[in-house]
Amino acid sequence: MVSRVIPVDPFDLVIFGGTGDLARRKILPGLFRRFCAGQMPPEARIIGAARSDIDVAAFRAMVAEATQEFGGGFTCETGTLEAFLEQIDYVAIDARGDQGWAELQEKMSGKGRVEAYYFSVSPALFGDLAERLQKWGMADQDARIVVEKPFGRDLETAQTLNATLATYFDEHQIYRIDHYLGKETVQNLMAVRFGNMLFEPLWNAQYVDHIQITVAETVGVGGRGEYYDKSGAMRDMVQNHLMQLLCLIAMEPPARFDPDAVRDEKLKVIRALDPVLPHHIIRGQYQAEPMNEANAPGYRTAVGDARSRTESFIALKTHISNWRWAGTPFYLRTGKRMSARSSEITVVFKETPHSIFAEDAGRHRNVLSIRLQPNEGITLGVTIKEPGPGGMRLVDVPLDMTFADALGEEGADQVDAYERLIMDVIRGNQTLFMRGDEVEAAWAWTDPIIEGWEARNDVPKPYDSGSDGPTDSTELMRRDGREWRKVSL
Ligand code: NAP
Repeated sequence: MVSRVIPVDPFDLVIFGGTGDLARRKILPGLFRRFCAGQMPPEARIIGAARSDIDVAAFRAMVAEATQEFGGGFTCETGTLEAFLEQIDYVAIDARGDQGWAELQEKMSGKGRVEAYYFSVSPALFGDLAERLQKWGMADQDARIVVEKPFGRDLETAQTLNATLATYFDEHQIYRIDHYLGKETVQNLMAVRFGNMLFEPLWNAQYVDHIQITVAETVGVGGRGEYYDKSGAMRDMVQNHLMQLLCLIAMEPPARFDPDAVRDEKLKVIRALDPVLPHHIIRGQYQAEPMNEANAPGYRTAVGDARSRTESFIALKTHISNWRWAGTPFYLRTGKRMSARSSEITVVFKETPHSIFAEDAGRHRNVLSIRLQPNEGITLGVTIKEPGPGGMRLVDVPLDMTFADALGEEGADQVDAYERLIMDVIRGNQTLFMRGDEVEAAWAWTDPIIEGWEARNDVPKPYDSGSDGPTDSTELMRRDGREWRKVSL
């Protein structure tokens, strides 16, 4: 299959927080990959901006190191690392002071190029950056800002942040990143749903028994303990990533694949979500047990608070009150230090209304499973006759479409989510970015759940590292006569 790389227009991309962890691990290596793929025009400039008083040479050395360490080993077809570094610049700047702004303004003064500003800094600085971009004349109508997560920590803070950004930028200029939306398989979810006649007629409460979404991690909180303990799995994962996946799986077909048509439909899903009943949600906290790292600490040790009540695991059941989904449960689960790193959406269809086969043929259901990571692909479980003599015995087999197998090298060498999203910013395409009202609606659904825990002094249930969460999570499904898909590689 021939790879189609369409170069984007010349651009200036300023990365505030250019020396930070996210820039080094994701943004800069991703840009290098786009350069190597021939998508980044030679006139494009990437300008790192942070307080560190380093010169361009030192920043380029840091970029070179980051691309080597986090670039993920690939062949650079259209140039060299040196040529990429030539396109890199740096300004020492303070988001909260005047240092560096005149220099940045000077560098950005050439017109006729796309101007994008990536806020890869603490959310506490988002407002300062927006204000100073306007003050220094860089917030014109064509400029775009990219805002990292977390976008608020509840409805009120999200509304305040939206209002602050709206003082300086229009909604069409604001790109709120949820990198899950940039994943190849997530977009494939839309292709599968809306590009095939096969699924859509069955995609409703009449034929679907339930839907499961699991995002399981094997890592613990690592060095992010302080941040994570103030956040927890609900704010860090469910309110954004799992919510976005839920929207894509449940939304009505948009009239067009364009930003507002897609986001309007996602918003309707969030607004139709039922409140979650207290006994339909399980919180967990992982306990010490060596797994990937020798003597890895339990959650409370990792965050340095022996009484922490923050959850590192969530399993919940919710419903969408609309005609398509009334009565179909959606089960969401995410956690740290689970048995495998795996993100999967599973649509479990109902049994046939009547079985013509003998009773011992068993119960069979079609299961459509969309794996986001690892081994991105789609599997459809179908029921067939078990080969051989001995009567009509039925067996479930997977029709497996692992992208790497089906699409060859191109399927395997997928574009990282951050690369795709940054190129979308340059192209001015907001389809895969969250709109302000979407984020607020997601918080409006999440807030009462968190407030309920706080009011009840809820303590998360302990679970073993390397397990799939507290036993209550299994029970949540078992009560309904269902079970979670096994978390597997
Ligand atoms: P980080 O490693 O702490 O980096 C912060 C960056 O901001 C540094 O480059 C720092 O450089 C710069 N900075 C701090 N204060 C500044 C100021 N007053 N003016 C200008 N620059 C300033 O943080 P990070 O992990 O990269 O995270 C950045 C953002 O991405 C955060 O919003 C985070 O929530 C989000 N995010 C990160 C990840 C991740 O994996 N790291 C994942 C998802 C979202 P100086 O100290 O030199 O100024």
